[in-house]
Amino acid sequence: MNLIGKTSVEIAELLKGGGDRDFRGQQVAGWIHQRDARTFEEMSNIPKVLRNQLAKEFFLTEPEVLEKAFSGDGSTKYLFEVEGGATFEGVSMPDGGKATLCLSSQTGCAVGCTFCVTGALGAGRNLGPEEMVGQYRLMRRDLPGEVERINLVFMGMGEPLFNTTHLGQALEILFERVSPKRITISTAGIIPGIRWMAALSKRPKLAVSLNAPDQHRRQEIMPITRRYPLDQLMASIRAFPLERGRRITFEYVLIRDFNDSVADAGAVARLIAGIPCKINIIPLNEDATHFPELRQPSKEVVDDFAGTLRDAGRVVTVRWSKGADVAAACGQLKGRNTAVLALK
Ligand code: SF4
Repeated sequence: MNLIGKTSVEIAELLKGGGDRDFRGQQVAGWIHQRDARTFEEMSNIPKVLRNQLAKEFFLTEPEVLEKAFSGDGSTKYLFEVEGGATFEGVSMPDGGKATLCLSSQTGCAVGCTFCVTGALGAGRNLGPEEMVGQYRLMRRDLPGEVERINLVFMGMGEPLFNTTHLGQALEILFERVSPKRITISTAGIIPGIRWMAALSKRPKLAVSLNAPDQHRRQEIMPITRRYPLDQLMASIRAFPLERGRRITFEYVLIRDFNDSVADAGAVARLIAGIPCKINIIPLNEDATHFPELRQPSKEVVDDFAGTLRDAGRVVTVRWSKGADVAAACGQLKGRNTAVLALK
């Protein structure tokens, strides 16, 4: 059994067995989740006999790093391999004293958004909690020493809300190191998953990939909209409980002559009226192989779109993606080397 996928409470419970082991459980969990131990051997305050026993009963296996691609903007894209040979990607984006780690939840994606390389490559399998936590451990270990604050965003490969059982367990483990307010789950709009998140006692932040202001166009680029229509999605977002000071994030991939007009920005403002939120505008990352017909709007069009939303009183950030030179940007995961980052 891989203890990286177990919470500290579960590890303590698993180690129970009389005598010394009861007391040592918390220590072993501390070594794994707080001190980043990779082997039982390095747990220096645990008696050697117990370490040997643990190594026979349990293991601490992380994904294998097959490749790291370093972008000129400081971000790094990781290609991981897990049991059975499946691969997935994660992206680390340090920025002075803080860093954002973009995590994957699946090894592909069945949602099939037409502007996303991961979607074009098709479904993969769900990652287990130990694999999701493992990618976090590996990327965190490489961060520069000055990084004090880490934000985690489940915006890599896959739809996290199609993998809620494993995601829930991974979150319980991640919460031991990272506050829920520093973790964001980004979804294509899986309504039962949003309700699942709403019912969590410790709740990460919710980001929803919106990408169009109406059912018709959203369905065109995000086929999942047929299953979870836009009006029902918006109702589930309006019902989502928000702690004081929190906001929903809407991601909006801006595609030239498709969803980028000033009128579209006005329609988005009306759609989200009354919802405490911010909007991340992501000018499309073009991909000549997978969706050659989709283009990035000009900077002027992006500015006009953002300006219209700001004039409507909205908080807007334009995210010209990081890591584009190594295919680590939004919608590009697994785009090169047949493996790396999507973005909801
Ligand atoms: S954008 Fe996200 S949900 Fe859509 S296909 Fe890509 S990985 Fe899947």
